[in-house]
Amino acid sequence: MLDPKTLENWDKTYFWHPFTQMKVYREEENLIFERGEGVYLYDIYGRRFIDAISSLWCNVHGHNHPKLNQALIEQLQKVAHTTTLGSSNVPAILLAKKLVDITPSCLTKVFYSEDGAEAVEIAIKLAYQYWRNLGERRKVFVTLSEAYHGDTIGSVSVGGIDLFHGTYKDLLFETVKIPSPYLFCKEKYGRLCDECKEELLSILEKVLKERSDVVAVILEAGIQAAAGMLPFPKGFLKGVRELTKKYGVLMIVDEVATGFGRTGSMFYCQQEDVCPDFMCLGKGITGGYLPLAATLTTEEVFNAFLSEFGEKKHFYHGHTYTGNNLACAVALANIELFEEEKTLEKLQHKIEYLTKRLEEFWDLDHVGDVRQLGFMAGIELVEDKKTGRPYPYGERTGFKVAYKCREKGVFLRPLGDVMVLMMPLVINTDQMDTVIDALKWAISTL
Ligand SMILES: *Cc1c(COP(=O)(O)O)cnc(C)c1O
Repeated sequence: MLDPKTLENWDKTYFWHPFTQMKVYREEENLIFERGEGVYLYDIYGRRFIDAISSLWCNVHGHNHPKLNQALIEQLQKVAHTTTLGSSNVPAILLAKKLVDITPSCLTKVFYSEDGAEAVEIAIKLAYQYWRNLGERRKVFVTLSEAYHGDTIGSVSVGGIDLFHGTYKDLLFETVKIPSPYLFCKEKYGRLCDECKEELLSILEKVLKERSDVVAVILEAGIQAAAGMLPFPKGFLKGVRELTKKYGVLMIVDEVATGFGRTGSMFYCQQEDVCPDFMCLGKGITGGYLPLAATLTTEEVFNAFLSEFGEKKHFYHGHTYTGNNLACAVALANIELFEEEKTLEKLQHKIEYLTKRLEEFWDLDHVGDVRQLGFMAGIELVEDKKTGRPYPYGERTGFKVAYKCREKGVFLRPLGDVMVLMMPLVINTDQMDTVIDALKWAISTL
């Protein structure tokens, strides 16, 4: 390996990082990771950190897991990649079957891609073309304020985070936005509650009643994660399913962040007994190993794309690496690990433990809100606790707290001033204590 100083220098010279103000990045000391083991990451100086954000919400069973490594090696010794445009490969077939088995029962078809944004992009295009194939022209998507579905233009169009998406407004297609459930309920009712859920659903119903050109309602599952961990009222997702059925529009549920155990069940939809027309998966699908995503849909949608070749009803969409052999092989092993290691059973008491320990944050001077869904949590920092006044954006308070946590061997990345805890599902309660104690300490130094 090159010496650390040269690596740091080259990193700052050649590498443009995602979601990063490079002027600031180049002025700071940054972590360059070299290897991982379980929940730990090691940097080029050999320092050890707990990966408390699961490497941007995708790691599940820990880094460098023997079974996942083995699955990759075995596949690698056969073939790394073969195209799925009109031909097939073994791990992609096995994984498709497995995904259909573990997702809600109306989902029977799997379309692969590489990243969450693409899985959403594909759901958008499939939903749009579904109506065209049936001879109807519809073009409006109903979305939520504060939604995040990824960074490609279609996914940005259905997004609602002004800070990320506002710049591109002129490039985006038309949507109708209904309020972000958490923010709406907080402002109007002071909390998430049944009345608030009903009011939100009636806002949606009004839109669906008035417009006959709605393609689909798209929303995240149970929580708006990238917006700062904003949970929905219980039953909201189910209510949306009932309304979309009643008014004959499609429903796209984005489980990219929530899928693969993050909320305590394999998929959040299962907690509300919802089967959407499209489910988007990514992040945890390979246990955090390789880029892979999937859009699942129903027999009914699939059938609308069947025709004689000349009728041109098929889906003209694909990527070079669609259904990549290595990624599918490791995804399959990732799902098998859930069964072998009883990951979800073991997770339940960690979720309870997290709930209990999160209460301690309410006592801190600069904590304005604490939010949780399953094993996902957000702790919102405020400058003034009484009025809820936030810190000025440019001060980067969340980042400063995250940097402090590094002194205690904990790696975090906040969403603005919301400190995110998205620990790998395999973490144990001692390691959770290290993370939570570090974060409490870092916040208390503000
Ligand atoms: C992260 C995320 C995406 C985008 O996934 P990428 O793999 O980063 O493109 C989409 N939807 C949700 C809900 C996400 O959290």
